[in-house]
Amino acid sequence: MTLTGAIAARGTGLPTIRLRLLETSDLHGCIYDYDYFHDKPDATVGLAKIATLVDAARREAANTLLLDNGDLIQGNPLADYVALREGLPPGAIHPMFRAMNLMGYDAATLGNHEFNYGLEFLERALADAAFPYVSANVTRADGSPLVPPWTVLERDLLADDGTRQRVRIGIIGFLPPQIVVWDKSRLAGRVTTADIVEAATRQLPALRARSDIIVALCHSGIATAPRQGGDENAAFYLASLPGIDAILTGHSHRIFPGSDYARRAGLDPVRGTLNGVPAVMPGFWGSHLGIVDLTLERRAERWTVAASRSTTQPIYRRDGGKPVALAEAKPAIIDSAAAEHRATVAYMGQPIGRTTAPLTSYLALVIDDPSVEVVNLAQLWYAKPLLAGTPHEGLPLLSAAAPFRAGTFGGPDAYTVIAAGPIALKNVADLYLYPNTVQAVRVSGAVVQEWLERAAGIFLEIDPAERHVQDLVNPRVPAYNFDVIKGVTYRIDVTQPGRYDSAGRVVEPDARRIKDLRWNGKPIDPAQEFIVVTNNFRAAGGGRFPGLDGSSVILDAPDTNRDAVSRYIEAQGSIDPSVAGTWRLTGNGKALTVGFETALAAAADLAGHPEIRMAGDLGNGFARFEMTIA
Ligand code: MN
Ligand code: MG
Repeated sequence: MTLTGAIAARGTGLPTIRLRLLETSDLHGCIYDYDYFHDKPDATVGLAKIATLVDAARREAANTLLLDNGDLIQGNPLADYVALREGLPPGAIHPMFRAMNLMGYDAATLGNHEFNYGLEFLERALADAAFPYVSANVTRADGSPLVPPWTVLERDLLADDGTRQRVRIGIIGFLPPQIVVWDKSRLAGRVTTADIVEAATRQLPALRARSDIIVALCHSGIATAPRQGGDENAAFYLASLPGIDAILTGHSHRIFPGSDYARRAGLDPVRGTLNGVPAVMPGFWGSHLGIVDLTLERRAERWTVAASRSTTQPIYRRDGGKPVALAEAKPAIIDSAAAEHRATVAYMGQPIGRTTAPLTSYLALVIDDPSVEVVNLAQLWYAKPLLAGTPHEGLPLLSAAAPFRAGTFGGPDAYTVIAAGPIALKNVADLYLYPNTVQAVRVSGAVVQEWLERAAGIFLEIDPAERHVQDLVNPRVPAYNFDVIKGVTYRIDVTQPGRYDSAGRVVEPDARRIKDLRWNGKPIDPAQEFIVVTNNFRAAGGGRFPGLDGSSVILDAPDTNRDAVSRYIEAQGSIDPSVAGTWRLTGNGKALTVGFETALAAAADLAGHPEIRMAGDLGNGFARFEMTIA
């Protein structure tokens, strides 16, 4: 149509078109609504449930495109099973692509986790996608494309007046350029990445010339701080470039629009716009379907976006903390992955390594405990290579971990219990309960000391002058806040009052429970800088730990702590959960007897601890124990 023709047509009422974009992102191998670590259904995850929402969303709209935003083939046990055990033999189709081909996806982009199993596996898997992949800021090292930077979907869309109108929809993709760091061992010399905004600036003019509208598949989150260049979360900056009509975001595993994001200049968390461009982010693991409804009008020689609306649709809601399903799993999708699902359930029970001694958390609050030690060893092992070649490489490396299943809350079964012998993948969830991700902070020796003081707040103050046996543990303090820091050594003096209250405020400024804190055998220097590997919860200030507010994070790793633990055990083959002696309780020179409660089953676990004895069965699965400390 000529320019004059278009204007004439508009004057005579050329129709409008409604186009609905449907987004999935960060599915991470979740097809079934199933928690493989705990071997039970999980109403909060699963592409099979999203498929039901997609069917409904398609019934409501004449024109839809279904798009995936990456982090697809890694991140749950089924994905590990397919990549590491089955390995996609000739003729096999990755179950994610079997499901997505059935659902009729229109296009997709790569996420950072697509590279976790190496390039060969990725290319082998992608070969069976019945829809195009695009990514504009990753190429092979020689500059040739890994997948095309963009594609144009030409669709004859149904207009409001019942006519069909051809619309050219440009689809361009982006991923965090950090993949070459996060997967250095697999990608060095093979893959190159570019800054998202710079790649977009290079590619958009050519795509614009061939498209009516452009949709960016941006496997990257939303940050509004000034752009640094090479940014991991660049969707907001991308939105300021001319020519992009909608941005589908992800990577941060959050929900947009919505309360996950605060209103700022250029960011509207209610309308769901970034610098005026409609955007959406649909949670993670299939928790939500992202929807962007566009109204297109013909202006000059192309169709343009006249109005938009962004929403997300959840597969569940919370009722008093408990998830309640809002969607049924689609049977055809469930059936498509049945073989891999069954194999994954079996795979969870197969050994990934061995432990030479039992790993239990019954005594984790009173002695230096092997179930916490294993997590700390795994975090150190995981983080060290990621810090190599960074400005933080030479600093002393410490690791913080807490017992997640060690009483104070939960019943007598809420403890980590792994027998000596084989360790299976499902046991790793017992060692690391929460799906946190690995982060590291750069802090001073003074902060390390305060961190430990705050953790020591789990203990009640013991009066050495009292003659009756006093309770040691404050039942109102959650065990997950009892961080043990490996790499230093210290004693915890329970005759001192707690320096911090339960809200993390200093209430006893003269009190110090952490005694004899040493690094490298010498008293710690408060000015010495350390790297402490921990999780995203703690690093961001979770638990109100002094000196931790997110600003000291120097490593925001792409993997879960649980993944680090399973990879560590698999790499070691056999672990010896003997403890090096990071910490112990002390009465500051006075011999004291203190009492605590733990599961009755701990009575069978006291070999090697002559200082601990059972004092009475409480009859409810718990028992009372006494401990002599010096
Ligand atoms: Mn992800
Ligand atoms: Mg990601």
